[in-house]
Amino acid sequence: MERHTPGEPLHMERHTPGEPLDMERHTPGEPVDLNAVAVVCRRAWNAVEPRDRTEMKSPAQTVIIHHTALRFCAQPRESVSQLAHIQHMHVQERGFDDIGYNFLISGDGTVYEGRGWGIVGAHAKEHNLNSVGIAFMGNFNNEMPSSSSLSALLRLLHIGVLHGHVRPNFVLVGHRDVAKTECPGKNLYALLPKLRDELQKL
Ligand SMILES: [Zn+2]
Repeated sequence: MERHTPGEPLHMERHTPGEPLDMERHTPGEPVDLNAVAVVCRRAWNAVEPRDRTEMKSPAQTVIIHHTALRFCAQPRESVSQLAHIQHMHVQERGFDDIGYNFLISGDGTVYEGRGWGIVGAHAKEHNLNSVGIAFMGNFNNEMPSSSSLSALLRLLHIGVLHGHVRPNFVLVGHRDVAKTECPGKNLYALLPKLRDELQKL
């Protein structure tokens, strides 16, 4: 993760008038990723400290898209509660070191930091070491992903490449491409070819 130098402009704190501000409050010194996409850092969603973390040895070759298969979240309050639930489930029930995903994206287009950039996740067996796992919050067998969540993904990946966390020629896949699972849900999976096209244009 990149550290923020106090005094540098914080593009993290842009917000839409009317939205609750406390979601995007930033404490200097906390790891943040700078650029045009707001990433809600772990502290802002009250993440529990990881038990352990392993740094990736090189930029990710693959980006694996997941869904949480839980309720669609479009409100910060619901999202934060779902994040806490997922972290608890991953750590306490599955025995992971932390929430499994690198990032999660809610229906309102907010990106939440999971393990973040450059940290090996626990989201796709045998593929974790060289991939980034990004989960859309909802069940996309039933729901349609919002356009703001899709555009947040594109911006996040663009920034990931710019900052060297992801290889420029990375491969975008769905979890079902690498494992026997319905994840990321048929509606989200069906959009992956379009997302790949959009990424080419960035
Ligand atoms: Zn998955």
